[in-house]
Amino acid sequence: MRPHRRLRAAALPVLCSLALAGAVAPAAATPVGDHRPTPFGRAALPTSDGWGSATTGTTGGSAADAAHTTVVRTRAELVAALGGDNAANGSNATPKLVYVAGTIDLNTDDSGHALGCDDYAAGTGYTLDAYLAAYDPAVWGRTAEPTGELETARVAAQKAQARQIQIAVGSNTTLVGLGRNARLLGGNLLVKKADNVIVRNLTLEDAADCFPQWDPTDTAVGNWNSEYDSITLYTATHVWVDHSTFTDGANQDADQPLYFDRPYQVHDGQLDITNASDYVTASWNVFKDHDKTNLVGSSNSSTTDPGHLRVTFHHNLWQNTGQRAPRVRFGQVDVYNNVYAVGTGAYEYSIGVGKGSQIVAEHNYVRLPSGVPASKVLYNWGGTGLTAADNLVNGRPGDLIGAFNTANPATPLGTSAGWTPTLRREVTPTVALPWVVGARAGAGRL
Ligand code: CA
Ligand code: CA
Repeated sequence: MRPHRRLRAAALPVLCSLALAGAVAPAAATPVGDHRPTPFGRAALPTSDGWGSATTGTTGGSAADAAHTTVVRTRAELVAALGGDNAANGSNATPKLVYVAGTIDLNTDDSGHALGCDDYAAGTGYTLDAYLAAYDPAVWGRTAEPTGELETARVAAQKAQARQIQIAVGSNTTLVGLGRNARLLGGNLLVKKADNVIVRNLTLEDAADCFPQWDPTDTAVGNWNSEYDSITLYTATHVWVDHSTFTDGANQDADQPLYFDRPYQVHDGQLDITNASDYVTASWNVFKDHDKTNLVGSSNSSTTDPGHLRVTFHHNLWQNTGQRAPRVRFGQVDVYNNVYAVGTGAYEYSIGVGKGSQIVAEHNYVRLPSGVPASKVLYNWGGTGLTAADNLVNGRPGDLIGAFNTANPATPLGTSAGWTPTLRREVTPTVALPWVVGARAGAGRL
């Protein structure tokens, strides 16, 4: 058995964050008033810019007063700026504008010292070797999910990590990166039961779970599943995620070991939108080097999702991603003016058409490597159809639905989503997208 891997952390950012942690009071975010940071932090989502602009619109923390306008450089400062108690910050609706400076490694304690997987597991009885021994299919079988002492220990260790790296964000918040290199490393922003949140100009990197769960009943061969998205919208409304970069960074899936002949998957989504979330615009982001990027709707059996999950994705770049770009259940989702740069690594599909989904995919530019046919771009997860028009595949008009249906005659997709998007502020000629999105999408480009 391989030893339990510790989280990788690039040496330089850790040294920088430790140096900064020593230079400022650790738990007191710095009020900066209105004068210091650049005013783009106060921007609201423009009118008619996607579903996030519907009804009351998305203004985030643009109304924050001077005392709630802060620059944060450490995890402790971030938690302080969001209200002071991570367990309660999710319900803190005070308008707040939070500028992130440099790298914040969320696997750090209140003094800024790095925490590793072994720190979270301490005292729980969990070790990877013991977990692998207990739930080896040769011992445990393949018909039941793990239960018992080692699974209880894994859950306890997972919760210890969650308390550190899962950062609750309440209503009326803007979180924006300062300058070109603002980064949240190793964690999850959780927007749960909150309204009116903006995230801009941030790199969100490697939200790795130290304690993946083995599920032998997930597909015929079993799967390792992990807990954390970079951003989770859970019963969240009016959210604008813009000009941010999502990546696994130096901790790539391809470098993970196999256990029980299955990839040890330490990541979940990049921006997942579930549990009746509504009115979301994701614009000018880069989603790269990751497997499952954007889940919209997490359950076929949900009774609360129908009628919600209205999301716009525009001017985003999906680069070298495996699947879910996005994968949709129920929602009216407008996917326009995006670039799909499919990599030569593991690729399942891009747009997943799930139960009750009403996807409109128009004016997108799809770049496929040789050997990947256009029929792979869509996948039918139990949907009835979508609107797909004016998309380019490798520079030429591409009929994504026609290609899918020719390759999958038993599970064809219809050609109408049944609605027409109106909240499009800026439609770029599709042929220009590789240059326009390539030059302007992602963090550090505002
Ligand atoms: Ca998962
Ligand atoms: Ca997720």
